[in-house]
Amino acid sequence: MPQPNCPDWLDAGLPHIWLPYTQMQTAPTPLTVVSTHGARIRLADGRELIDGISSWWTACHGYNHPHIRAAVNAQIATLPHVMFGGLVHEPALRLAQRLCALLPGDLERVFFTDSGSVAVEVALKMALQYWRNKGQEGRTRFVFFRHAYHGDTFATMALCDPDEGMHGLFSGVMPPQLMAELPSSPIMQAAFDRLLDTHRERLAAVVLEPLVQGAGGMKMHDAATLRFIAEACQRHGVLLILDEIMTGFGRTGHLFACEEAGVVPDILCLAKALTGGTLPLAATVARRHVFAAFLSDDPAAALMHGPTTMANPLACAAANASLDLFEREPRLAQVAAIAAQLTDALEPCRALAGVADVRVKGAIGVVELSGAMDLNALRQRFAELGVWVRPFGNVVYLMPPFVISRDELQTLTTSVRRVLAERAADL
Ligand SMILES: *Cc1c(COP(=O)(O)O)cnc(C)c1O
Repeated sequence: MPQPNCPDWLDAGLPHIWLPYTQMQTAPTPLTVVSTHGARIRLADGRELIDGISSWWTACHGYNHPHIRAAVNAQIATLPHVMFGGLVHEPALRLAQRLCALLPGDLERVFFTDSGSVAVEVALKMALQYWRNKGQEGRTRFVFFRHAYHGDTFATMALCDPDEGMHGLFSGVMPPQLMAELPSSPIMQAAFDRLLDTHRERLAAVVLEPLVQGAGGMKMHDAATLRFIAEACQRHGVLLILDEIMTGFGRTGHLFACEEAGVVPDILCLAKALTGGTLPLAATVARRHVFAAFLSDDPAAALMHGPTTMANPLACAAANASLDLFEREPRLAQVAAIAAQLTDALEPCRALAGVADVRVKGAIGVVELSGAMDLNALRQRFAELGVWVRPFGNVVYLMPPFVISRDELQTLTTSVRRVLAERAADL
């Protein structure tokens, strides 16, 4: 009999697995998960970790929510999958209609894909072909912002901050795009305006993660900055793509971050929490005028994209169930309570040596560090304390499931304070 804390598939399988963003020679052995529930991850050795990061920001309702599980079970019994070319089905059409009803303005056409990076790729393709269909062939460049992260595929890598991001290795492979500073002061606003004015003939779109830039360093900007960017795009006739893959579905305090600024982007991208973190699904949503530019007698004016498993019915059923939960349960109130607790509990970190900044937005709490950070050591220390917290770059952050209890969240914030105090003592 294999020992319960060392399953037989572990030794047999590990030599054949390639892990993400991981130096496989030096990385510690990954932890072995056997089940999840609520805000908890159960390991093969019997320990339970409280999840402070919602499995890469997806599990907004916690794990194994019975309502989502029931919806997926019912769906798999009748229609697990069917191709979406020439065929449609209820889960996808219901989901598209519901998303459009929740989104602001005339964001009213949904294109489904299976991952966030591909949702951004589709948004870029929409923007490029929008201008081509309008007879403006030269508009092939994109503006992105310092600290941006928009995905790991090739076109999206070219829109990630080359210094902060993980893709510096590939600079030069893709045609460079234009990196801008976030226009958060009058001087920077003037500079941003000049940038758009100078390049307007070549620009297809500006791409931005609204209010919180995630994987590029958990940087935050205010609604006025977002509004300025949207107005500048309008003034200069450039499309605005908002990447709400991380910010969407309540994470920043509103159901969508763009609502806080009263901004309606031309194209909006969703993924991550779309299915409550249960199944891969992403969506690129276009405004009416964007969709209209693809209507023509010419077949070549159509959007040329179609992932094999697009609009998978299981994933759409999970997303519909997730939207039910946003309707039935007080998710935004939970986010507000998490924000208050994160602010109270993380603010004291500011006094520790080696802490550069503490910031909170919605259910996102960030402690930015100065000086070198031994990521593997910090991650291991958090696991020893019974929490799943995974610092990256120079930030330690918490993005818990919205259903986390006050006590569980307190265990997370106490662990962050403790680990950073230990680090401060070593500096
Ligand atoms: C995670 C993320 C992506 C990429 O999504 P994947 O599903 O990992 O491809 C793109 N943009 C933002 C803002 C993200 O947080």
